[in-house]
Amino acid sequence: MKVELIPALSDNYMYLLIDPDSREAAVVDPVEPIKVVEAIRKHGVKLTTVLTTHHHWDHAGGNEKMVKLMPGLRVYGADDRVDAITKKVPDSHNFKIGTLHIKCLHTPCHTTGHVCYYVTKENCSDPPVVFTGDTLFVAGCGKFFEGTADQMYRALIDILGSLPPETRVYCGHEYTVNNLKFARHVEPDNKVIREKLAWAKEKCDKGEPTVPSTLADEFTFNPFMRVKEKTVQDHVKQTSPVETMRSLRKEKDSFRVPKE
Ligand SMILES: [Zn+2]
Repeated sequence: MKVELIPALSDNYMYLLIDPDSREAAVVDPVEPIKVVEAIRKHGVKLTTVLTTHHHWDHAGGNEKMVKLMPGLRVYGADDRVDAITKKVPDSHNFKIGTLHIKCLHTPCHTTGHVCYYVTKENCSDPPVVFTGDTLFVAGCGKFFEGTADQMYRALIDILGSLPPETRVYCGHEYTVNNLKFARHVEPDNKVIREKLAWAKEKCDKGEPTVPSTLADEFTFNPFMRVKEKTVQDHVKQTSPVETMRSLRKEKDSFRVPKE
C-alpha cells in the first residue's frame, strides 16, 4: 500500500491512501480538497472514500467541498458532527478500499466520536498503517476535550498499543519537536528522547515531515505511551498508569515550550 502525506493549513496532515492493485484510494481528513484533487490526478487513482478522524474543522472542515468536487464519495466517521458524513461507523467496523482492509478503532477522549483507521493488506510484506488523527501524535497525544484520562489510557495503551509494533503511525499534526521538548522535561535522562529531538529539529529545519513513526518507537519516547514506566510516574509523583496519564496531560496543557 502507499501513503502520500499532503501538508495542509499550518501544521495539519492529510493522507492519500492508495491500493496499488486496484488503483482505488481514500483520503484522510481532506481539509484542503483542491490539494487532494491535485494529488489524485498526479497518481492517476480513483478516490472513493473520505476517512474522517473527528469533527474538528481542521480535520472535517473540507468534507463538504470534497464531496462537491467529487460527487459520490463515501464519507466515513463516527460522529454526527462530521460534515457530509454518509456512513457512521460502529467500533471495529471493517470495510475495504480495493484490496486494503480498513478497521475502525473508536478512541473517544479528544472528542467523543474520534476514530482511528487501521489498514492492512493480505499477503503483503508492507507493515500495517494506522491513521491516528488527534489521538496519538509523534511523542504526544491530543487534548482531552471531551473525555478522561481513563479513555486516553484505553486508546493509547489498550487499543493502539496492542497493534503490531511495526505499525506505521500517521497522525493529524506536525507537533513532534514541541512534544519531544515536553518528553525531555519529563525524562531528562532518556537518551532516545534527546536523539529523536535532534533528528526532529533537523527534519523540521529542512521543511520535512517527522511522520510516520512506529508504535514500537512511540513506546520509547512518548511519555503518554510510557505511563507504566517508573521514571515517568516519578516525574508526576503518581504510581498508577491512569493517574500518571491524567497528571501528564494536565502538566502539558500549561507547559511552556523552551525556545532554543
Ligand atoms: Zn482535533
